[in-house]
Amino acid sequence: MSQPSIVRTNTAELYDAYVMKNYARAPLTLVRGQGVSVWDDTGREYLDFTSGVAVAALGHCHPTWVEAIRRQAGELIHVSNLFRHPNQGELARRIVQHAGPGRVFFCNSGTEANEGLIKLARLHGVRKTGEEGKCYKIICAKQAFHGRTFGGMSATPQEKIQKGFRPLVPGFSFGELNNLQSFADLVDADTAAIFIETVQGEGGVLPCTDEFLWGLRKLCDQHNLLLMLDEVQCGVGRTGDFYAFQHSGIRADAIGMAKGIANGFPMGAIWAAEKHAELFTPGSHGTTFGGSPLACAAALAVLDVLAKDNLVEKVRTNGAAWKIELEKLVIDFPQQVKTVTGRGYMIGLVLQSDPVPCVAALREAGLLTVGAGGNSIRLLPPLIATKEHLDRATAIIRTVLGRPT
Ligand SMILES: *Cc1c(COP(=O)(O)O)cnc(C)c1O
Repeated sequence: MSQPSIVRTNTAELYDAYVMKNYARAPLTLVRGQGVSVWDDTGREYLDFTSGVAVAALGHCHPTWVEAIRRQAGELIHVSNLFRHPNQGELARRIVQHAGPGRVFFCNSGTEANEGLIKLARLHGVRKTGEEGKCYKIICAKQAFHGRTFGGMSATPQEKIQKGFRPLVPGFSFGELNNLQSFADLVDADTAAIFIETVQGEGGVLPCTDEFLWGLRKLCDQHNLLLMLDEVQCGVGRTGDFYAFQHSGIRADAIGMAKGIANGFPMGAIWAAEKHAELFTPGSHGTTFGGSPLACAAALAVLDVLAKDNLVEKVRTNGAAWKIELEKLVIDFPQQVKTVTGRGYMIGLVLQSDPVPCVAALREAGLLTVGAGGNSIRLLPPLIATKEHLDRATAIIRTVLGRPT
């Protein structure tokens, strides 16, 4: 295995001196990754159940993905959206195959995908009323997370994210997740869309029930609202369906995706059903970098491997068996573990108290996890993780929980 290209011993000091302090980072410097494992600068191996926050779908440095990037980097990296190139057309076709008849716009991150959806909702409002500035409201969910731009942040009703940045974009209101009536109560003549995560991620792993999704679909049809789903974290196979909403069988009007789509090469995308996709006309939205030949090559490699290795189905079956194992923790460690949420490889271990010390203890025991809202720990293994990897993680969690406190 090749050595990391940069080896430094003073990384912590460099961060201290030169990197902005907007993250409470773990005291860990990672230098190499392979499959489900990453290694730190002392050579210690960790099982990576963060996947770079649900990004590394194929794990680290998957050979097919590395080769696709290498080949594309030597051929053509960037051309802007002033021209066509084969990869973007092909990737859009594949996404439409998964999402349904419609069209795709490519960007560079989750929050950018969500900006695109928010702009789409505004255009839908203009189409509804024939007037600008009238019908622009969007109903989101409490505890939601939609990103850090002004649109994304305005859709994210969390004090720690909004504090200091007001005034925000107007028109956002918030219903209770899985409480249809609370959403219905917020609809008025100025409402253009409902916008939710199909499975909340940062807020704690909280899935929408199928019944709730069906109710929202009906509500949107009754009032001519767009049903827009943020699948940035839960999409692209993570829950054991290609899109998490497909579990319910509903139809979406528009979908935002990012994280797992290109396995760590920055990419976001929105899909919209045909009659909404046409709301974007030349000049109404754009991006310099989005959908570059290189980013699309990375995403095509992800979709190739997902299909060839039947990974989405494996995530569904392995994830279901794993959840049963994890639920035993609630019985064996009732003082620490309250419940287990989520499905597939997007699992929330809901603790009885603040998860930060447990995340640190798991890290020290060799398992990387991510904290989330509602006292939960997110377990987000790469989609290539096998039953053996899941069992190893469960064993580490048991050891850590079983220690005297
Ligand atoms: C991570 C995330 C975002 C933001 O994505 P970035 O790529 O960090 O901008 C938006 N929505 C959801 C549901 C996310 O999990």
